[in-house]
Amino acid sequence: MNVAGKWDVVVVGAGNAAFCAAQAAAENGAKVLMVERAPKELMGGNSRFTAGAFRCVYDGVDDLKAIMPDLTKDEVDRSDFGTYTSDQFYDDMFRVTQYRTDGELCDRLVGRSRDTMRWLHKKGMKFDPIWGRQAYLIDGKFKFWGGLTVESKGGGPGLIEQHLKLAEQNGIEVRYGVRGISLIYDGKMVKGLKVKANGSYEDIECKSVIIACGGFESSPEMRTRYMGPGWELAKVRGTSYNTGDGINMALAIGASSYGNWSGGHAVQWDYNAPEFGDLSVGDNFQKHSYPWGILVNATGRRFVDEGADFRNYTYAKYGAVVLRQPNNFAWQIFDNKIIPMLRAEYRIKRVSKVTANTIEEFAHKLEGVDPQAFLDEIKKYNAAVKQGVPFNPNIKDGRCTVGLDINKSNWANTIEEPPFEGYQVGCGLSFTFGGVRIDPDSGQVIDSDMNPIPGLYAAGELVGGIFYFNYPGGSGLMSGAVFGKIAGTGAATGRNA
Ligand SMILES: Cc1cc2nc3c(=O)[nH]c(=O)nc-3n(C[C@H](O)[C@H](O)[C@H](O)COP(=O)(O)OP(=O)(O)OC[C@H]3O[C@@H](n4cnc5c(N)ncnc54)[C@H](O)[C@@H]3O)c2cc1C
Repeated sequence: MNVAGKWDVVVVGAGNAAFCAAQAAAENGAKVLMVERAPKELMGGNSRFTAGAFRCVYDGVDDLKAIMPDLTKDEVDRSDFGTYTSDQFYDDMFRVTQYRTDGELCDRLVGRSRDTMRWLHKKGMKFDPIWGRQAYLIDGKFKFWGGLTVESKGGGPGLIEQHLKLAEQNGIEVRYGVRGISLIYDGKMVKGLKVKANGSYEDIECKSVIIACGGFESSPEMRTRYMGPGWELAKVRGTSYNTGDGINMALAIGASSYGNWSGGHAVQWDYNAPEFGDLSVGDNFQKHSYPWGILVNATGRRFVDEGADFRNYTYAKYGAVVLRQPNNFAWQIFDNKIIPMLRAEYRIKRVSKVTANTIEEFAHKLEGVDPQAFLDEIKKYNAAVKQGVPFNPNIKDGRCTVGLDINKSNWANTIEEPPFEGYQVGCGLSFTFGGVRIDPDSGQVIDSDMNPIPGLYAAGELVGGIFYFNYPGGSGLMSGAVFGKIAGTGAATGRNA
């Protein structure tokens, strides 16, 4: 395959950030080539594995109607969307990252989220409210919670399908099976990209390169080196192709490393899931109803506050907590009161599940768990539940436990009503937080002398400095879109977006 040609901008990768960057570059007059390492049938990166959820600012239903004009009056009347103001988004980012998020990057992510969603909508991207996962039906109305309200039509697969169609409409060329290997750099500026396609190397000349080819989550070697021992044992939730190539090629020419290199977005994930994500299952190996139940490890004991916060604000860090447990697993435990509320992902065929009608039988079915310790733990836990406070999944209900070594802060339901269900989970890594430093207004990569590298831009997972320790659900796609648009504009014009 000959990929050489006259290109203004070459984008490495074909996930959400790359497509947004390519669109922005093309609308600024650039001739754009996207090179994607995966074959066509596996393209789309982690973005394709997502539920397509975008966390964005909206001050009321009018902001939502601006990006979802197909919302009917009946749908609006039957929904309580609330608001998600920029103050709320900032607060969430600061709180979950323990105030480590880079102020300027965070400012662009939050401050440009609404306009970037409008830009995507104008380009032709369709969105829906997340009726299924982010709203509860209360007194006949869908009440949205957790600030996460919008998803791309058709989830992650729909997002990538739409991106592809829009890229085609706007004359953006995408080549598959082409792996970016290194940057062509003369010591002053980036002048192109060396790629490997069909077993041979080629040089592509261009005015600017945008690296948007994901983090290093799919490299066990880099995971262990940067995140620490044990991370080679984690499963990868998404694509097998994000092996840190973009980061490594930028570091090789002097880019500044930035952000939480030992951190990543990692969730509770079916213990027996395959090494990498499976597009036919998508994100359904995740098990996200844990705030309503309890978690125990091999010792039969609870080890974390399952109800510390809404699921959106704990799920991305609890994968790492499970990885640190003996033999890297935990069981999620529910009784009959909660089973009907479990999310759809609990009903898939490929699930590591046990069920029993007595708690004693159940204790012996939990593989790898000390049954007697488990029975003691349940007794202690049940006795500690503050029964007088009503259970309400829609708010942080304060139905907590009292007097335990590790209390549960909200949604503490007793485990006593058969049948009992247990789901075995391990750690599923979604993406890594460490990456390269960029200029927040142009997307240009900064070198370790803190100077911009002419001709090199970045967007998406491989941008460091945004997420630390944790992550508010739906911010990854939003970050890719915001910084993709910024990088695409910068790469095409040399100006700030
Ligand atoms: C199961 C799952 C569910 C998720 N759900 C959500 C969600 O609902 N909302 C949300 O905001 N975030 C979610 N995330 C996080 C989200 O997927 C990422 O933050 C986001 O998709 C990253 O986009 P990206 O474009 O940077 O990377 P990707 O979408 O991963 O794209 C990177 C692309 O680069 C390609 N590539 C890699 N190396 C090379 C190379 N050397 N040359 C050429 N191409 C290369 C890869 O093949 C890939 O196509 C989820 C993640 C997972 C795994």
